[in-house]
Parts: sequence; structure tokens; C-alpha cells
Amino acid sequence: MFRRVFNTIVEQCISESLVKGEGFAIDASLIRADASQQRASDRPIDWGSQETQSLAVKEYLAALDEQSDLNRPQKSVSLTDPMSQWSGAKGPAEFYYSTNYLIDVENNIVIDVEASPSTLKLEVATTRTMINRVEENHGLLPERLMGDTAYGAAANLDYLVNEKDIEPHIPVWDKSKRNDGTLSVSDFKWDETTNEYRCPQDKPLRHRWRNYKPDESGITKSNTMAYRSRQSDCKDCPLKQRCCPNTATRKIARSIYEDSRTVARNIVDSPAYEKSCRERKKVEMCFAHMKRQLQFTRLRLRGMSSANDEFLLVACAHNLKKLASMRGPLEPVIG
Ligand code: SF4
Repeated sequence: MFRRVFNTIVEQCISESLVKGEGFAIDASLIRADASQQRASDRPIDWGSQETQSLAVKEYLAALDEQSDLNRPQKSVSLTDPMSQWSGAKGPAEFYYSTNYLIDVENNIVIDVEASPSTLKLEVATTRTMINRVEENHGLLPERLMGDTAYGAAANLDYLVNEKDIEPHIPVWDKSKRNDGTLSVSDFKWDETTNEYRCPQDKPLRHRWRNYKPDESGITKSNTMAYRSRQSDCKDCPLKQRCCPNTATRKIARSIYEDSRTVARNIVDSPAYEKSCRERKKVEMCFAHMKRQLQFTRLRLRGMSSANDEFLLVACAHNLKKLASMRGPLEPVIG
């Protein structure tokens, strides 16, 4: 019901031409859960029989089977609202949920909102949920999406570039740069036609030097493929100490989504990105408005579905305020 109310308000904003649909920005903000630090445990918990479990606990146990990220050992699990996440990101550690906003940057209208546990991976996963839902509900697919580095994970960029044809105005999540004086991946040239890297000595780094069985993809769990140089090339190389001082050959792990990462890198180097960086801040302004003007800093209810309801209501209030302030005074009703 709350989702339908929210969608109706978004439709109203679209019909009043407050939504351009060209550029969307995405981000998440932490909201304190209604869970006390004292009612928490860092040991295996006996949740009791189904009859005695609260709705929040039942939701959590059901989600454990689906969301592997929730199975990670947490420092502390709330006994009253176990889906909330223990986090010290905002000062002293407390339990939080994340509200994820997708906004249209033209007039800061919240186009979609989704609750998630406060982990980076699950926050980023809401990108697909919200983009797909906005397309389905309102027929809107932006030309560009703005977000911070958290959204620059390779699989997320590939979803935007290849599945949705959306320009990712997002910095690439890249840990390949070395700061110890040795050669970084950027010092090697990628050759698409031969499917190999070329090192500064113009020697090849290949994924396969011999024939493998056809069913061996060579893709690692982290969705990368290893490219290696030849020992015979590196043995007497003058750059050996700067390239691979502790190993016989140089290895580069290339993401299977590297092409999408390259698209995002090229956008970051373009003049359009500067404008996107400024517009990205608008989603942070929406969160500031939510906390300062609407005074929404703590959830009243427990469990993920209740968090979703509260976040939807707050987004409704935000959009209604925008709608009222931008459309001007209404004609008085006579009679
Ligand atoms: S050590 Fe090997 S990979 Fe590195 S620059 Fe020399 S030949 Fe190339």
C-alpha cells in the first residue's frame, strides 16, 4: 500500500514535469534502528520456537537463507531487530538500517527508495532493484547514473553499461595502483585483438600459454582472469626488480567486466563528469533534508519490511513538499 502511494506521488511529479528522466543519482544513508545496544549478542543465538518469535526475527531467519551477506559473522547481532546492522560509521557503534535513494537530479525528486541492511554490498545491490522497478513502474530509464565509488564495483558497472545502456558517471573501484614503486597495471598496454597485455619491455602477458580443456574457463571466484608473462622473458629483464621482484613472472588479474570499467574510466576523464560530480551531491542534500527538516533520524518500527514502510513514507513527504513548493499556490475551490 505504501509503495502504491509513493508511486502515485512520483507519477504526479512526472505529470507536473518535475522529472526530466535524464540523470539519476544514487546513494544510501544510515538510520538508527529501534534496537538497544544492551539487547545484543556476539554468540550463536537460540531464537526459540516459531510461535514465540517476533515478526522482525522471523523476517531475519527467512532472509538468512537468501542473502549470504547476512551470514557473515557480525560483531554483534540485535536480539530485538536482527536484520539491523551493527556499525560504528557514525561515531559510537549502534544498530542501523540503510535508506537507499534514487533521485532525479533535475528537481531532486525521489524516484525510488529501498531499505537494506547497512552493508556496502547490499546497498549497491539496490541499484538493480530500483533501476528495474522505475523502468517497470514509470517507464523511465536515465541516460546517466551518478554515484560514489561504492557503486563503482565491476559487476554493478557492467549491469549499467551492458544490460541497461546507462552511462555510469561513477568512479571505478580500482585497487590495482601500486604505491611501493613497482609497476602498476596502468603501465601495461591492453591489446584487444590479441587478448593480451604488453609490458614496458613489449613482452606479452597472456591468459593461456598452453591449451586447456574447453570447460576450464579460468575465471576466478572474484570474476577475474589471470594474465601472466613468460619466465624466459622476465629472467634477465632490466625491469625485473620494479615489476615482479618476488616472483618469477608478472601476473595481472583482469576483471571479466573490464570493458565496462573502461567505459566508466573514460567518462570520469570527460568534461561531463565534472557536472555529474556536482549533481551527485543533490542526493546527499535529500538525506540532509530528511534528517534536519523532517527530523527522521530513528526508526519507530522493527524489521526490514517496517523499515521499508517508514522510508517510503518519508520519501512521500519529501516529494509532496517539493511538489507543493514547485507547482505554486492552488486555485481556491469555490462552492
Ligand atoms: S619483468 Fe617480465 S613482465 Fe616485467 S617488464 Fe620485464 S619482461 Fe616485462
